[in-house]
Amino acid sequence: MNHNLTADEALQRLIEGNQRFQRGEPHSSGVARETLAELAHGQHPFATILGCSDSRVAPETIFHAGLGELFVVRVAGNVLSAEVAGSIQYAGAHLQTPLLVVLGHEGCGAIQAALATMYQGVHQRSRIQLLVDSILPGLEGLDAGLPPAARLAQAVEMNVRWTLRTILDSPEGRALQAEGRVKCVGAIYEIETGRVRFLNPNTP
Ligand SMILES: [Zn+2]
Repeated sequence: MNHNLTADEALQRLIEGNQRFQRGEPHSSGVARETLAELAHGQHPFATILGCSDSRVAPETIFHAGLGELFVVRVAGNVLSAEVAGSIQYAGAHLQTPLLVVLGHEGCGAIQAALATMYQGVHQRSRIQLLVDSILPGLEGLDAGLPPAARLAQAVEMNVRWTLRTILDSPEGRALQAEGRVKCVGAIYEIETGRVRFLNPNTP
């Protein structure tokens, strides 16, 4: 299943898939034998998604995508680590995916945990605290005066932008941008509506 999509076409495909999902159109997870045979020859996903592990934010479902279409890295809080960066680089370099989406979501528990550490001094269990520690630097400058729900929403967006910036500011990210083939965008999944809101890269 070679797609030969540009980054913009790939983005459009995600947007249209998410619109089908929002309309409640049926999405079959069944796969024809011919498709399996074709996929056995190799994978050509049209987008890489770095998303949260949250069970309500499964990329293939919310983008109405099929087997072999999305290269997905999922980790609580959609945080970057060496392993995650390696997976993203693999998708770009070897699978030539033209689009990378860092996908955060409303009501993210990992971000909530980070806020609890920030404002209530909560110390999480050992490994969870490590996760939280990797989120905290991106929340610097968060408006502490906001009501809790708005503060969480702002933190979720800041975390996505932070991850995206870290990827783009890496030597690998800069090389990709210089090449001009790959686009990196941030997005927030709205839990109640099912809508994926893509972030404007030009606003901070
Ligand atoms: Zn989450």
